[in-house]
Amino acid sequence: MRGFGFEEHGGLDRLAYVDIPAPPTGAGEVRVRVRAAAFNRLDRFTLAGIPGVPVVRPHVLGSDGAGVVESVGDGVSDLAVGTKVLLNPGLWDGTCPACRAGDEALCREYRIVGEHTQGTATELVVVPRRNVHPLPDRFSFADGAAAPLVFQTAWRALRTIGGVSPGDRVAIVGGGGGVPTAAVQVAKLLGARVAVVTRTPAKGDRLRALGADDVLALDDEHPLDKSLWQWSEKRGVDVIFDSVGAPTIPRSLRAVARAGRIVVIGATAGPVAEIDLRTLFWRQASIRGSTMASAHEFAEVLAELGEGRLRPVIDSVHPFDRAADAFRRFDAPDLFGKVVVDLPAP
Ligand SMILES: [Zn+2]
Repeated sequence: MRGFGFEEHGGLDRLAYVDIPAPPTGAGEVRVRVRAAAFNRLDRFTLAGIPGVPVVRPHVLGSDGAGVVESVGDGVSDLAVGTKVLLNPGLWDGTCPACRAGDEALCREYRIVGEHTQGTATELVVVPRRNVHPLPDRFSFADGAAAPLVFQTAWRALRTIGGVSPGDRVAIVGGGGGVPTAAVQVAKLLGARVAVVTRTPAKGDRLRALGADDVLALDDEHPLDKSLWQWSEKRGVDVIFDSVGAPTIPRSLRAVARAGRIVVIGATAGPVAEIDLRTLFWRQASIRGSTMASAHEFAEVLAELGEGRLRPVIDSVHPFDRAADAFRRFDAPDLFGKVVVDLPAP
Protein backbone atom coordinates (compact mmCIF):
# COMPACT_ATOMS: atom_id res chain seq x y z
CA MET A 1 0.00 0.00 0.00
CA ARG A 2 1.05 3.58 -0.59
CA GLY A 3 2.38 5.72 2.24
CA PHE A 4 4.08 9.06 2.66
CA GLY A 5 7.43 9.15 4.41
CA PHE A 6 10.99 8.43 3.38
CA GLU A 7 13.44 5.79 2.22
CA GLU A 8 16.48 7.54 3.70
CA HIS A 9 16.81 9.96 6.61
CA GLY A 10 17.54 13.56 5.79
CA GLY A 11 15.90 16.86 4.97
CA LEU A 12 12.64 17.69 3.24
CA ASP A 13 14.11 16.58 -0.10
CA ARG A 14 13.97 13.00 1.24
CA LEU A 15 10.17 13.04 1.62
CA ALA A 16 8.69 10.48 -0.73
CA TYR A 17 5.80 8.16 -1.40
CA VAL A 18 6.81 4.68 -0.35
CA ASP A 19 5.33 1.23 -0.65
CA ILE A 20 4.89 -0.87 2.49
CA PRO A 21 2.92 -4.08 3.04
CA ALA A 22 -0.57 -3.76 4.50
CA PRO A 23 -0.23 -4.62 8.22
CA PRO A 24 -2.04 -7.76 9.47
CA THR A 25 -4.64 -7.36 12.24
CA GLY A 26 -3.33 -9.25 15.27
CA ALA A 27 -5.20 -10.42 18.34
CA GLY A 28 -6.50 -7.49 20.36
CA GLU A 29 -5.77 -5.09 17.52
CA VAL A 30 -7.83 -2.95 15.20
CA ARG A 31 -7.08 -2.07 11.59
CA VAL A 32 -8.25 1.39 10.59
CA ARG A 33 -8.68 2.74 7.09
CA VAL A 34 -7.13 6.18 7.44
CA ARG A 35 -9.22 9.10 6.14
CA ALA A 36 -7.14 11.90 7.65
CA ALA A 37 -3.62 12.01 9.06
CA ALA A 38 -1.82 14.89 10.74
CA PHE A 39 1.83 15.74 11.05
CA ASN A 40 3.69 17.07 14.07
CA ARG A 41 7.14 18.54 14.48
CA LEU A 42 8.06 15.09 15.73
CA ASP A 43 7.79 13.92 12.11
CA ARG A 44 10.52 16.37 11.13
CA PHE A 45 12.79 14.87 13.77
CA THR A 46 11.91 11.32 12.70
CA LEU A 47 12.70 12.25 9.09
CA ALA A 48 16.07 13.67 10.15
CA GLY A 49 16.77 10.61 12.31
CA ILE A 50 16.59 10.60 16.11
CA PRO A 51 19.69 9.16 17.81
CA GLY A 52 18.79 5.87 19.49
CA VAL A 53 15.48 5.50 17.63
CA PRO A 54 16.04 3.14 14.69
CA VAL A 55 13.19 2.92 12.20
CA VAL A 56 12.27 0.31 9.63
CA ARG A 57 12.70 1.75 6.15
CA PRO A 58 10.92 2.62 4.03
CA HIS A 59 9.17 4.51 6.79
CA VAL A 60 5.71 6.07 6.81
CA LEU A 61 5.34 9.29 8.83
CA GLY A 62 2.39 10.62 10.82
CA SER A 63 1.41 9.99 14.46
CA ASP A 64 -2.14 11.24 14.29
CA GLY A 65 -4.95 9.63 12.35
CA ALA A 66 -8.68 9.21 12.07
CA GLY A 67 -10.70 6.92 9.87
CA VAL A 68 -13.00 3.92 9.78
CA VAL A 69 -12.56 0.51 11.41
CA GLU A 70 -11.69 -1.87 8.56
CA SER A 71 -11.22 -5.10 10.56
CA VAL A 72 -10.73 -6.25 14.14
CA GLY A 73 -8.49 -8.98 15.51
CA ASP A 74 -9.35 -11.91 17.75
CA GLY A 75 -10.73 -10.89 21.11
CA VAL A 76 -12.07 -7.53 19.96
CA SER A 77 -15.84 -7.70 20.35
CA ASP A 78 -16.82 -4.16 21.35
CA LEU A 79 -15.99 -2.27 18.16
CA ALA A 80 -17.87 -2.77 14.89
CA VAL A 81 -16.34 -2.65 11.45
CA GLY A 82 -17.33 0.66 9.87
CA THR A 83 -17.17 2.69 13.10
CA LYS A 84 -15.65 6.14 12.67
CA VAL A 85 -12.68 6.46 15.02
CA LEU A 86 -9.62 8.44 16.01
CA LEU A 87 -6.34 7.02 17.25
CA ASN A 88 -4.28 7.64 20.36
CA PRO A 89 -0.71 7.54 19.02
CA GLY A 90 0.83 6.57 22.37
CA LEU A 91 1.82 2.89 22.64
CA TRP A 92 2.53 1.19 25.97
CA ASP A 93 3.10 -2.40 27.04
CA GLY A 94 0.40 -2.54 29.71
CA THR A 95 2.52 -4.75 31.95
CA CYS A 96 5.33 -2.67 33.49
CA PRO A 97 4.97 -1.09 36.97
CA ALA A 98 4.05 2.34 35.51
CA CYS A 99 1.33 0.84 33.34
CA ARG A 100 -0.03 -1.22 36.21
CA ALA A 101 -0.12 1.95 38.30
CA GLY A 102 -2.17 3.66 35.58
CA ASP A 103 0.47 6.08 34.31
CA GLU A 104 1.15 4.67 30.87
CA ALA A 105 3.04 7.82 29.80
CA LEU A 106 5.87 6.59 32.04
CA CYS A 107 5.86 3.10 30.50
CA ARG A 108 9.38 1.77 30.14
CA GLU A 109 8.44 0.57 26.66
CA TYR A 110 6.62 3.75 25.65
CA ARG A 111 6.54 4.34 21.90
CA ILE A 112 4.73 6.64 19.49
CA VAL A 113 2.99 5.69 16.25
CA GLY A 114 4.94 7.09 13.32
CA GLU A 115 8.12 7.53 15.33
CA HIS A 116 8.82 3.99 16.51
CA THR A 117 6.34 2.25 14.20
CA GLN A 118 4.94 2.82 10.72
CA GLY A 119 2.81 5.96 10.77
CA THR A 120 -0.65 7.07 9.79
CA ALA A 121 0.04 8.76 6.44
CA THR A 122 -1.04 5.67 4.56
CA GLU A 123 -4.10 3.60 3.73
CA LEU A 124 -4.30 1.21 6.70
CA VAL A 125 -2.86 1.37 10.19
CA VAL A 126 -3.04 -1.24 12.97
CA VAL A 127 -3.02 -0.32 16.67
CA PRO A 128 -4.15 -2.01 19.91
CA ARG A 129 -7.88 -1.82 20.65
CA ARG A 130 -7.19 0.46 23.61
CA ASN A 131 -5.76 3.09 21.21
CA VAL A 132 -8.99 3.36 19.20
CA HIS A 133 -11.75 5.77 20.28
CA PRO A 134 -15.06 6.61 18.60
CA LEU A 135 -14.86 9.87 16.66
CA PRO A 136 -16.82 12.54 18.57
CA ASP A 137 -20.06 13.41 16.75
CA ARG A 138 -18.99 16.98 16.20
CA PHE A 139 -15.67 15.94 14.63
CA SER A 140 -14.72 15.64 10.98
CA PHE A 141 -11.98 13.14 10.14
CA ALA A 142 -9.62 16.12 9.92
CA ASP A 143 -10.58 17.16 13.47
CA GLY A 144 -10.01 13.60 14.61
CA ALA A 145 -6.50 13.62 13.18
CA ALA A 146 -5.72 17.11 14.47
CA ALA A 147 -6.54 16.57 18.13
CA PRO A 148 -4.91 13.50 19.72
CA LEU A 149 -1.18 14.21 20.05
CA VAL A 150 -1.27 17.91 20.83
CA PHE A 151 -4.22 17.89 23.22
CA GLN A 152 -2.95 15.00 25.30
CA THR A 153 0.45 16.71 25.44
CA ALA A 154 -1.05 20.00 26.62
CA TRP A 155 -3.41 18.29 29.07
CA ARG A 156 -0.80 16.28 30.95
CA ALA A 157 1.80 19.06 30.86
CA LEU A 158 -0.50 21.73 32.26
CA ARG A 159 -2.87 19.79 34.47
CA THR A 160 -0.82 16.91 35.85
CA ILE A 161 2.79 18.07 35.63
CA GLY A 162 2.27 21.84 35.85
CA GLY A 163 -0.53 21.59 38.39
CA VAL A 164 -2.37 24.57 36.93
CA SER A 165 -5.08 25.85 39.32
CA PRO A 166 -7.76 28.49 38.83
CA GLY A 167 -6.25 31.95 39.04
CA ASP A 168 -2.70 30.83 38.17
CA ARG A 169 -0.77 32.91 35.70
CA VAL A 170 0.22 30.64 32.83
CA ALA A 171 2.47 31.58 29.92
CA ILE A 172 2.56 29.63 26.68
CA VAL A 173 5.89 30.20 24.97
CA GLY A 174 5.60 29.92 21.17
CA GLY A 175 2.23 30.72 19.72
CA GLY A 176 1.43 29.19 16.37
CA GLY A 177 1.87 25.44 16.09
CA GLY A 178 -0.46 22.68 17.08
CA VAL A 179 0.69 22.27 20.67
CA PRO A 180 0.49 25.95 21.68
CA THR A 181 -2.98 26.35 20.16
CA ALA A 182 -4.08 23.38 22.27
CA ALA A 183 -2.24 24.60 25.37
CA VAL A 184 -3.93 28.02 25.34
CA GLN A 185 -7.33 26.35 25.43
CA VAL A 186 -6.39 23.82 28.10
CA ALA A 187 -4.87 26.48 30.38
CA LYS A 188 -8.00 28.60 30.02
CA LEU A 189 -10.27 25.62 30.72
CA LEU A 190 -8.28 25.01 33.91
CA GLY A 191 -9.14 28.54 35.03
CA ALA A 192 -5.79 30.21 34.48
CA ARG A 193 -5.00 33.72 33.32
CA VAL A 194 -3.15 33.00 30.09
CA ALA A 195 -0.50 34.89 28.15
CA VAL A 196 0.91 33.65 24.87
CA VAL A 197 4.36 34.80 23.89
CA THR A 198 4.96 34.98 20.17
CA ARG A 199 7.29 36.51 17.64
CA THR A 200 4.36 36.82 15.23
CA PRO A 201 1.96 39.38 16.71
CA ALA A 202 -0.30 39.03 13.64
CA LYS A 203 -1.55 35.83 15.28
CA GLY A 204 -2.82 37.80 18.27
CA ASP A 205 -6.49 37.95 17.32
CA ARG A 206 -6.67 34.23 16.65
CA LEU A 207 -4.88 33.44 19.92
CA ARG A 208 -7.31 35.66 21.83
CA ALA A 209 -10.19 33.89 20.10
CA LEU A 210 -8.84 30.62 21.57
CA GLY A 211 -8.92 32.14 25.05
CA ALA A 212 -5.60 33.93 25.50
CA ASP A 213 -6.06 36.87 27.86
CA ASP A 214 -2.91 38.56 26.64
CA VAL A 215 -0.62 38.13 23.65
CA LEU A 216 2.92 39.36 24.23
CA ALA A 217 4.93 40.20 21.13
CA LEU A 218 8.61 39.43 21.46
CA ASP A 219 11.36 41.40 19.83
CA ASP A 220 14.82 42.63 20.77
CA GLU A 221 13.33 45.41 22.88
CA HIS A 222 10.90 43.05 24.59
CA PRO A 223 12.72 39.83 25.45
CA LEU A 224 10.85 36.91 26.97
CA ASP A 225 11.99 37.35 30.58
CA LYS A 226 11.21 41.08 30.77
CA SER A 227 7.86 40.72 29.00
CA LEU A 228 6.69 37.96 31.33
CA TRP A 229 7.99 39.69 34.44
CA GLN A 230 6.08 42.81 33.54
CA TRP A 231 2.96 40.81 32.64
CA SER A 232 3.04 39.11 36.05
CA GLU A 233 3.27 42.50 37.81
CA LYS A 234 6.73 41.49 39.02
CA ARG A 235 5.43 38.48 40.92
CA GLY A 236 6.53 35.92 38.36
CA VAL A 237 4.61 33.43 36.26
CA ASP A 238 3.18 30.38 38.04
CA VAL A 239 3.45 27.94 35.12
CA ILE A 240 5.46 28.43 31.93
CA PHE A 241 4.74 25.97 29.13
CA ASP A 242 7.84 25.90 26.96
CA SER A 243 8.29 23.95 23.75
CA VAL A 244 11.05 26.13 22.27
CA GLY A 245 14.01 24.97 24.33
CA ALA A 246 17.55 26.29 24.38
CA PRO A 247 16.90 29.99 23.65
CA THR A 248 13.92 30.36 26.00
CA ILE A 249 14.50 28.15 29.06
CA PRO A 250 17.07 30.47 30.73
CA ARG A 251 14.74 33.44 30.21
CA SER A 252 11.69 31.47 31.34
CA LEU A 253 13.53 30.71 34.57
CA ARG A 254 14.15 34.42 35.17
CA ALA A 255 10.40 35.05 34.82
CA VAL A 256 9.04 32.19 36.93
CA ALA A 257 7.27 32.82 40.24
CA ARG A 258 8.32 31.50 43.63
CA ALA A 259 7.38 27.80 43.61
CA GLY A 260 6.60 28.22 39.90
CA ARG A 261 6.87 25.44 37.38
CA ILE A 262 8.46 25.42 33.95
CA VAL A 263 7.12 22.50 31.94
CA VAL A 264 9.24 21.48 28.98
CA ILE A 265 7.44 19.48 26.31
CA GLY A 266 9.85 19.93 23.43
CA ALA A 267 12.98 21.68 22.28
CA THR A 268 12.28 22.72 18.72
CA ALA A 269 14.94 25.45 18.73
CA GLY A 270 17.69 23.43 20.38
CA PRO A 271 18.16 20.83 23.11
CA VAL A 272 20.96 22.22 25.34
CA ALA A 273 20.28 25.16 27.65
CA GLU A 274 22.34 26.84 30.37
CA ILE A 275 20.46 27.95 33.48
CA ASP A 276 21.35 29.89 36.61
CA LEU A 277 20.87 27.47 39.49
CA ARG A 278 20.77 30.32 41.98
CA THR A 279 17.48 31.46 40.48
CA LEU A 280 16.18 27.89 40.58
CA PHE A 281 16.76 27.35 44.30
CA TRP A 282 16.05 30.89 45.48
CA ARG A 283 12.66 30.88 43.75
CA GLN A 284 12.17 27.22 44.75
CA ALA A 285 11.08 26.71 41.18
CA SER A 286 11.03 23.48 39.24
CA ILE A 287 11.72 22.55 35.66
CA ARG A 288 9.85 19.41 34.66
CA GLY A 289 9.54 17.47 31.49
CA SER A 290 6.29 16.10 30.13
CA THR A 291 5.45 13.97 27.15
CA MET A 292 2.22 12.51 25.79
CA ALA A 293 -0.29 11.31 28.43
CA SER A 294 -1.69 8.34 30.31
CA ALA A 295 -4.73 6.47 29.01
CA HIS A 296 -6.84 8.13 31.69
CA GLU A 297 -5.60 11.62 30.77
CA PHE A 298 -6.29 10.90 27.10
CA ALA A 299 -9.86 9.91 27.93
CA GLU A 300 -10.31 13.07 30.01
CA VAL A 301 -9.16 15.44 27.30
CA LEU A 302 -11.08 13.56 24.61
CA ALA A 303 -14.25 14.02 26.69
CA GLU A 304 -13.63 17.78 26.81
CA LEU A 305 -13.14 17.77 23.04
CA GLY A 306 -16.30 15.74 22.56
CA GLU A 307 -18.27 18.26 24.62
CA GLY A 308 -16.85 21.12 22.58
CA ARG A 309 -15.05 22.78 25.50
CA LEU A 310 -11.82 22.32 23.57
CA ARG A 311 -11.56 22.37 19.81
CA PRO A 312 -8.91 21.26 17.33
CA VAL A 313 -7.27 24.09 15.43
CA ILE A 314 -6.50 23.21 11.82
CA ASP A 315 -4.03 25.30 9.85
CA SER A 316 -4.70 23.59 6.55
CA VAL A 317 -5.89 20.36 4.98
CA HIS A 318 -3.92 18.99 2.04
CA PRO A 319 -4.77 16.17 -0.36
CA PHE A 320 -2.66 13.04 0.16
CA ASP A 321 -1.13 13.53 -3.28
CA ARG A 322 0.31 16.83 -2.01
CA ALA A 323 1.45 15.61 1.40
CA ALA A 324 4.82 17.38 1.12
CA ASP A 325 2.96 20.70 1.03
CA ALA A 326 1.54 19.89 4.47
CA PHE A 327 5.02 19.16 5.75
CA ARG A 328 6.37 22.44 4.44
CA ARG A 329 3.76 24.40 6.41
CA PHE A 330 5.93 23.92 9.52
CA ASP A 331 8.32 26.52 8.09
CA ALA A 332 5.59 29.06 7.28
CA PRO A 333 5.64 32.08 9.60
CA ASP A 334 1.83 32.18 9.52
CA LEU A 335 1.40 28.53 10.61
CA PHE A 336 -1.55 28.35 13.00
CA GLY A 337 -2.65 24.97 14.28
CA LYS A 338 -2.33 21.53 12.77
CA VAL A 339 -1.49 20.47 9.26
CA VAL A 340 -3.70 17.64 8.07
CA VAL A 341 -3.62 15.31 5.08
CA ASP A 342 -6.86 14.08 3.61
CA LEU A 343 -7.03 10.52 2.28
CA PRO A 344 -9.74 9.52 -0.17
CA ALA A 345 -12.33 6.85 0.57
CA PRO A 346 -11.44 3.62 -1.25
ZN1 LIG B 1 4.39 -0.16 30.60
